[in-house]
Amino acid sequence: MLLYNTLTHTRDEFVPNVPGKVSMYTCGPTVYHYAHIGNLRTYIMEDILDRYLRYAGYDVKRVMNITDVGHLTSDGDTGDDKMLKGARREHKTVMEIAKFYTDAFFDDCRKLNIRRPDAIEPATGCIDDFIRVISGLIEKGFAYEAGGNIYFDTSKLEKYYVFHDFAEEDLEVGVRDGVEADSNKRNKADFVLWFTKSKFEDQELKWESPWGLGYPGWHIECSCIAMKHLGERLDIHCGGIDNAFPHHTNEIAQSEAYLGHKWCNWWVHVLHLNTNSGKMSKSTGEFLTVSLLESKGYDPLAYRFFCLQSHYRKNLVFTYENLDNAVISYNKLVSKVASLLREAKRTADVTIDEEAFANIKKRFTDALDNDLNTSLAVTAVYDALKAKTTAATRLAAVKDFDTVLQIGLIPAAEALIAEEDARAEAAKAAEAAHVIFDDPTVRAIEEKIAARAAAKKAKNYAEADRIRAELLSEGITLVDTAEGTTWHK
Ligand code: AMP
Ligand code: ZN
Repeated sequence: MLLYNTLTHTRDEFVPNVPGKVSMYTCGPTVYHYAHIGNLRTYIMEDILDRYLRYAGYDVKRVMNITDVGHLTSDGDTGDDKMLKGARREHKTVMEIAKFYTDAFFDDCRKLNIRRPDAIEPATGCIDDFIRVISGLIEKGFAYEAGGNIYFDTSKLEKYYVFHDFAEEDLEVGVRDGVEADSNKRNKADFVLWFTKSKFEDQELKWESPWGLGYPGWHIECSCIAMKHLGERLDIHCGGIDNAFPHHTNEIAQSEAYLGHKWCNWWVHVLHLNTNSGKMSKSTGEFLTVSLLESKGYDPLAYRFFCLQSHYRKNLVFTYENLDNAVISYNKLVSKVASLLREAKRTADVTIDEEAFANIKKRFTDALDNDLNTSLAVTAVYDALKAKTTAATRLAAVKDFDTVLQIGLIPAAEALIAEEDARAEAAKAAEAAHVIFDDPTVRAIEEKIAARAAAKKAKNYAEADRIRAELLSEGITLVDTAEGTTWHK
């Protein structure tokens, strides 16, 4: 499998450290608000990587952190502390906010068929690990104390900007949303490992440490949580492209300084979901959520399908028009799968043509082996539907591919069939009702009743009685009521 590596700038043949096993780390969400559909694009594409590695036979262990503290890279972070801001906005404690939005995040993941990582670790659960690694970095001379905070000294590294060959002055010390200069730093690129003195003095969560009461910086959490669950050597680390610098760059700096050897082989970054006015961003407060899409009538899996139609290393523009087009394609695909399900049931043929299956499958695996080309993998589903082989073989291929794509093709097709059957039933019932109404015998009776009513109105009672007698001789009894005449046999 070829997988692009931000570290080498090439698509390299994926080889894990231990044959057959993959250790995979994913930067999790900052839980001060709902995840937006941009964040979820990243998690959907990482899920494809996770699921495809499993499909290919690897024993994958995937770990994700939850940033519930330590989302500041330095005291120079502009604006407010995000968790505190979230807590104030909703009149809750920081931990209540973290719990609420962590649950909301996994709820969104469930709706999007994103597999739950094997280990999920909130940063607040690993304070001892952070303290141990920071102490190790101080001992080895990679960290220093200034103004009450502990900083990582980037000048001690041979190469700090590992992903790029940028000139230092071109890279302002960025955080998730911009910074102010921090006068404590020895070098512009240095970053905080532990805060004891912060401009955010009203920080709710603080812990005792060898350097005083304080809280961790953002980057240290991912290094420590990855090491805690996956050991000293990591196969794959993923995140959105905005994480490459400074977050992942700093993770590499501190992890390799601490361990004394290379830490992670593959860095996989998902490009952004943008709107026409730019990157979708949580901190601006203007963003789209899965619940919002649902409230507008969109199936979350149609959004997943929309993401799969483009390559993860290309920016993707979200507009409702683009999503609507994806919905149309998705519905067509589901309807083709429904036809196949009907065909398979009708023919009752369960023979799997192994050779045909292998040929169809090759297109699918070739697509994903080529740096996760998901749009070609979706095309392979169409190819499977059209393949010249038994219905059972085609159906088996569609089911197989959807274990990776997870766009819910079979349940959606079954729901469509149930809906179509219910509609056909209703139409049949309406047809039956129409037949009774249109029955010529009934019509003749109704006409005679009408003629009798007309005779009565014209005071021709003899004619009226004659009609009544005639109907009675046919076994039809008339009953005159205030509302008119009814009849029964
Ligand atoms: P955050 O909750 O801000 O820490 O972000 C969670 C994940 O979403 C990270 O991997 C980010 O890199 C990623 N991310 C943030 N914004 C976007 C976006 N507009 N499109 C795709 N991924 C994003
Ligand atoms: Zn991270």
